[in-house]
Amino acid sequence: MNMVEATHFTGLRGKLSLDAPLARHTTWRAGGGADIVFTPADRDDLAAFLRQLPIFEQVTALGLGSNTLIRDGGVRGAVILMHDPGGVLAVADGLVYGEAGVACPKLARFAALHGCGEAEFLAGIPGTIGGALAMNAGCYGGETWACVARVEVLQRDGTFVVRTPKDYEIAYRSVRRVDGRGQGEIFTAAWFSFPAGETLQARARIKDLLARRLATQPLDVPNAGSVFRNPSGDHAARLIESAGLKGHAIGGARVSEKHANFIVNAERRATAADIEALILHVRRTVAEKTGVVLEPEVRIIGEAA
Ligand SMILES: Cc1cc2nc3c(=O)[nH]c(=O)nc-3n(C[C@H](O)[C@H](O)[C@H](O)COP(=O)(O)OP(=O)(O)OC[C@H]3O[C@@H](n4cnc5c(N)ncnc54)[C@H](O)[C@@H]3O)c2cc1C
Repeated sequence: MNMVEATHFTGLRGKLSLDAPLARHTTWRAGGGADIVFTPADRDDLAAFLRQLPIFEQVTALGLGSNTLIRDGGVRGAVILMHDPGGVLAVADGLVYGEAGVACPKLARFAALHGCGEAEFLAGIPGTIGGALAMNAGCYGGETWACVARVEVLQRDGTFVVRTPKDYEIAYRSVRRVDGRGQGEIFTAAWFSFPAGETLQARARIKDLLARRLATQPLDVPNAGSVFRNPSGDHAARLIESAGLKGHAIGGARVSEKHANFIVNAERRATAADIEALILHVRRTVAEKTGVVLEPEVRIIGEAA
């Protein structure tokens, strides 16, 4: 039973649903829903929603769900669907501005078109700008926060604040406020500072990067990218393969034959419980056989069914 009724909210322009499923908003195409799901019309609409949402309700931002496993029992509180195919991208004062709901590959192409270099790696990250900021996503030597000049965040009380990288402790796939606060803050936009580049060269690098991904990753079936972080000096995929786990399946979830650090939901029948059980099995087996304890990179949220 929801604590909040839809009639509690007034003046919202976005889409509000109660007890709504979320599997199709994750790239694993699996898992439960949320008590409240809100797709804001824009940043101001999101601020209006947060101001009206009772303070005891938890808030979770979801971008393209490309790094998230939602347990089958779903998420309590509100999930905000941030992906916005019409989100703003612009160039101003030598910086590239992007709203958090814009997909990273779109930002990469926009930056290339506007003569920026070192943004090509973003083409390989199938998430939103907000998700990339939250994860410090990166690949091929590039990392999101290496090119951030400042970010705009929305606080739980519905007010906007602009912060700079020095407000955060930034590490491999990890971003935290230096003062330990900021739980529930949502990234709403970022200003990127890319060095000058050459459009044709950047486009060629994007093409090359995507071809390499297609050749090495199981992109034709639902997955969430690398499940585990790479331990220092090694690769999770190598350890998983050496533990003999390629192809190992639990229910509808299987360790990819193409890339051992990917778990795929090839027949689209995996539950979140299947995927989580496989994650735990891989972790235990790799620890037993190699002595290395792998840490998940994917974020697992919500309650078991
Ligand atoms: C095929 C494939 C390849 C991938 N390759 C890479 C790679 O090379 N490098 C890499 O780093 N990752 C990779 N990933 C993982 C994933 O794409 C990244 O982690 C990405 O940044 C997640 O973005 P998202 O919008 O999908 O985030 P989600 O999965 O929707 O969310 C991830 C986390 O960020 C939080 N979040 C999302 N939006 C916001 C926001 N606006 N404000 C605050 N918090 C927010 C969520 O609450 C959650 O905790 C890959 C995934 C896939 C499926």
